[in-house]
Amino acid sequence: MPTTSVQTGLLSLSNEELSDLVQKFGEPRFRARQLADAVFRQRRESLAEVSNLPASLKSRLAEGGIGVGFPKIEAKFQSVDGTVRYLMAFADGQSVETVWMPEGDFGEAGDGSEAGTEEEDGFWLSASGFRQIPSAVRDTDSSTRQSIKNEESVSNPERRPKAESRKPLPVRRSRATICVSSQVGCAVNCQFCLTALLGVKRNLSAGEIVGQILVVLRDHSVDLGRERVNIVFMGMGEPFLNYDNFMKAVRLLVEEVGFAESRMTVSTSGIVPRIFDFGREPVRPKLAISLNAPNDEIRDRIMPITRKWNLDALLDAARQFPLRPRERLTFEYVLLAGINDAPEHTRELARRVHDIRCKVNLIAFNPGPGVPYSMPEHQRVLEFQTIVTESGIPAFIRRPRGRDIYAACGQLKRTVA
Ligand code: SAH
Ligand code: SF4
Repeated sequence: MPTTSVQTGLLSLSNEELSDLVQKFGEPRFRARQLADAVFRQRRESLAEVSNLPASLKSRLAEGGIGVGFPKIEAKFQSVDGTVRYLMAFADGQSVETVWMPEGDFGEAGDGSEAGTEEEDGFWLSASGFRQIPSAVRDTDSSTRQSIKNEESVSNPERRPKAESRKPLPVRRSRATICVSSQVGCAVNCQFCLTALLGVKRNLSAGEIVGQILVVLRDHSVDLGRERVNIVFMGMGEPFLNYDNFMKAVRLLVEEVGFAESRMTVSTSGIVPRIFDFGREPVRPKLAISLNAPNDEIRDRIMPITRKWNLDALLDAARQFPLRPRERLTFEYVLLAGINDAPEHTRELARRVHDIRCKVNLIAFNPGPGVPYSMPEHQRVLEFQTIVTESGIPAFIRRPRGRDIYAACGQLKRTVA
């Protein structure tokens, strides 16, 4: 008898594993494809709803303790800016948070998922944040020029070739970004992050990671064939400390759910050996690294993990990371007033990353109870951005999403009011 637990569920299984499972029940392999379609594509919460599977298989799966494994929406909070924060509960009663950010897939939109997308479609150029980059920088960036062309061809149909104006281009609308959790809590203990206050309770299974996304897609009736959705692994937890399950979730999302790897970004606090592993993955999201400081002295204070892998080691891994053609690595930098936001910090940061094909995402600190930092003045954030961009590195200011409902970066701690 297969021993898959309900907690793990069908959502954790690759097609090969599903094939093994149905064969153990004496069913032909094609049943695996039917099962996969039912859970990953049709997002069926229970096999009872699936009509094309034999009743005997469904009952034997149930008797074997095998369920689909979707998390339950325990609570849902809607922000004035359209962001929705979900509290998702798993079979063992543990819960995490998942965030839906409508139209949130540009650099200024708060999710970081723009990393690298400029090569593909040019949508992001309409983001006002980008226009703040000095023209000297813009003019040297060929992918940017390409994006301008793309944007024109999308927004101005008169400029399209005749054949296309007769048959409109199938422009996929930008819909939203989903920010997903990888662990219950987090062990990394960054001093500015509310998730850190929870400690780490456990890793999520691949199915629990995929399940968060499917539940949100279902809640918004998303048709992935027609709408564009990005995924950022930037919720609760450190994805690279749950590396195998995280990578399995990525493969399931690509192979079974139908997401493009280029529509996903993972953020790590800097687990150096896993950055090397990640670089060797044949299918992988884009990489963002939470740098947050220009030197070890400051980083040590705010991110104790620096004692294990210092900035030299981290930047060395970043330097060796095998970027795809025209892909850029993203460095995230949370600005904490009076700690890491001075002009000399900006210049030091630019000096240290100047030889890496990267962009910098600036995040003004999102405050929360029990976290002893404050937000910098907006002017300070703009100055920081200007210095970085003038050094030739694209820099974006991440717009906080859903601060009013504790959904913004670093605010995920299962707040229930
Ligand atoms: N654990 C991973 C991914 C989740 S955190 C990581 O740390 O990279 C996602 C981003 O939120 C990180 O860049 C982190 O530095 C940032 N962050 C954490 N707490 C924050 C806060 N209070 N305000 C603003 N950003 C914060
Ligand atoms: Fe964990 Fe990321 Fe928060 Fe650090 S910033 S405690 S790594 S979730």
